[in-house]
Amino acid sequence: MTSDASCARSASRSICANGSSSMSNILMIHTGGTLMMRPGRDSSTLEPADYARDLVAELPILKTVGKIDTRILFNLDSGDMQPHHWVALAELIHNEIQSYDGVVVVHGTDVMAYTASALTFLLPGLDRPVVLTGSQRPLFEIRTDARVNLVDACHIATLAVPEVGIAFASKFLRGCRATKLDAWGFDAFASPLCQPLVELGLGAILAPHVLQPRAAGAFDPRIDSNVLSVRLFPGLNPDLLRHSIDSGVHGIVLEAYGAGNVPHLERSFIPAIARATQAQVPVVIVSQCPRGATELQLYPGAAAASEAGAISGGDMTIEAALTKLMVTLGRAPAGKVLEFVASAFRRPLLGEMSRDLPFR
Ligand code: ASP
Repeated sequence: MTSDASCARSASRSICANGSSSMSNILMIHTGGTLMMRPGRDSSTLEPADYARDLVAELPILKTVGKIDTRILFNLDSGDMQPHHWVALAELIHNEIQSYDGVVVVHGTDVMAYTASALTFLLPGLDRPVVLTGSQRPLFEIRTDARVNLVDACHIATLAVPEVGIAFASKFLRGCRATKLDAWGFDAFASPLCQPLVELGLGAILAPHVLQPRAAGAFDPRIDSNVLSVRLFPGLNPDLLRHSIDSGVHGIVLEAYGAGNVPHLERSFIPAIARATQAQVPVVIVSQCPRGATELQLYPGAAAASEAGAISGGDMTIEAALTKLMVTLGRAPAGKVLEFVASAFRRPLLGEMSRDLPFR
């Protein structure tokens, strides 16, 4: 890791981001989440509050990090986020990012890892950071994680980290490797198979695996959300999967056991996978284990699934596999869907899976 402590000390300037000493420019896009929620009428729920002020008015110390423009794009509990919201958010970022050193997206924690993954695949060409953040407790509360997360996110938006990621609890995680693991503690996110891109302490430490800057092409809004994620469990009826294929699902993420194991004896899933392959419906196998990777030749069930046409999702998170499938399906040429999707999953496009899995 590269120690970047001097950068943290001179947080009001973008020296580390681009070599100049001018004040940083940050675009802050608000989409909702607990961070700006207030108690609802019965005071037992938290709801998105009606507000038109920008977050710098709420937390004036942010002015010392840089010049911040705020847009209130949505004000949703992230449980209501839909793929069309991702496309609108990605398009706004695509259109505006070149006028700023980096972008901060304020977002609810529940769906943040899905949004971070979707933005990764919708914005493949980035030369500066897109930093999602939020909080477990609202900004107005005394014991809140909102203040530190917002300040950290704005600081990270000035660093040379051209990736979509999640700034939370003093870390910046690669968005397409992150998952929400804690609904109670302030350290809500983890990326068990990818070291943090940035660790914040007295200084900021940048990891060596941060991606190189990439030029952006034209914005491509195509995404196909007609997909299904199915978590295997003993007793699950494979006919349910078969019915979903027959009723027009376009792609499936199968959350298999351990290293990708699938039932192949009683209640076998192999015929359903073969049916999907025949119908040009890709079936991507990921592991239910947060630290798992699929190894489709290790057990007979997994080998039979691979033989029937299942695609290995390697060590991708479920969030990354689903959103990569949606974006890839949106671009797949008619009649060549399976080979197009299989080829996209064969290798990492943007660091979403480990390159050197021995069994791929
Ligand atoms: N329900 C909230 C949301 O995801 C939770 C949070 O922001 O922490 O919008």
